[in-house]
Amino acid sequence: MDETIEVHPLSASPTAAWKEIGQTQKVLKLNVKVPSAAVGFDKVRFVCMSDTHSLIRYMTFGVPDGDVFVHAGDFTRCGQKDEVVQFDAWLGTLPHKHKIVIAGNHELSFDKRFVDKFKAKSGADEGEVPNYGKTQDNIRDAVNTDNVKRLLTNCTYLEDSGVEVYGLKVYGTPWQPEFGNWAFNLPRGSACLEKWDQIPAGVDVLVTHTPPLGHGDLVCSGVRAGCVELLATVQRRVKPKYHVFGHIHEGYGVTSDGKIIYVNASTCDINYFPRNLPVVFDVPLPPGYTKN
Ligand code: 5GP
Ligand code: MN
Ligand code: MN
Repeated sequence: MDETIEVHPLSASPTAAWKEIGQTQKVLKLNVKVPSAAVGFDKVRFVCMSDTHSLIRYMTFGVPDGDVFVHAGDFTRCGQKDEVVQFDAWLGTLPHKHKIVIAGNHELSFDKRFVDKFKAKSGADEGEVPNYGKTQDNIRDAVNTDNVKRLLTNCTYLEDSGVEVYGLKVYGTPWQPEFGNWAFNLPRGSACLEKWDQIPAGVDVLVTHTPPLGHGDLVCSGVRAGCVELLATVQRRVKPKYHVFGHIHEGYGVTSDGKIIYVNASTCDINYFPRNLPVVFDVPLPPGYTKN
């Protein structure tokens, strides 16, 4: 039977929650290395990036080839139309057969709730937010993009939804614990858990924008920003092979709890420079599936 996940008493304080939960958790750090050999016929190669923030032109490296390209959100500064069009055009140049994208908190125009709220207030009492790429003009331009998701023509866009590639189940969701009034923000605790409850058990590759607690979620100030209930959902109910995310740029890297592999694929570092290499992993093809 599926395990029901409850809200943790320390849900609102992830740093304190990890002091408690972390005592019984393994966190193994794995090396990020781009494989030199081509992928075998019996494996599916995933190539993961995140948090490119419309800065792809400054990348000093190429994107390795593979079967499935994944972007875990924050592909723009604030979801303006030009940014989405530019990102989509870049996706079109990538060689991967399948491309899977989710939104992050910077894709303001993708979150109808954010757009409606901003329009209702006419942006009047928002103030100038000293956050990267989010001026009043940027927001106003972003929220006036109609039906923005149609601009993503070169990928499968997931939003609380899944797709199957080569018999592998991939699920994507953009929500994150609220921080600084952005898109897809939700209060920690039951609001986030309601979204995680929609993830089906048995997903092979889970893509979220936020990290779970304890993996790739350590902020440079020393606090943890991951979601407590996302960790519980992933470890106890969904049990994916891989969990791919971004959002906490300084948490870039790969870790494991001994069973699940956690990939913080943030391309940009804390200073919004696109410094970090794409993370590549190979998943065995399920029995009965081929790649052609
Ligand atoms: P972004 O604005 O691109 O979503 O996040 C950029 C940076 O903001 C992260 O690398 C991290 O330093 C900080 N940040 C984002 N979300 C949180 C959060 O929930 N808590 C804390 N303490 N910092 C965050
Ligand atoms: Mn980001
Ligand atoms: Mn983010």
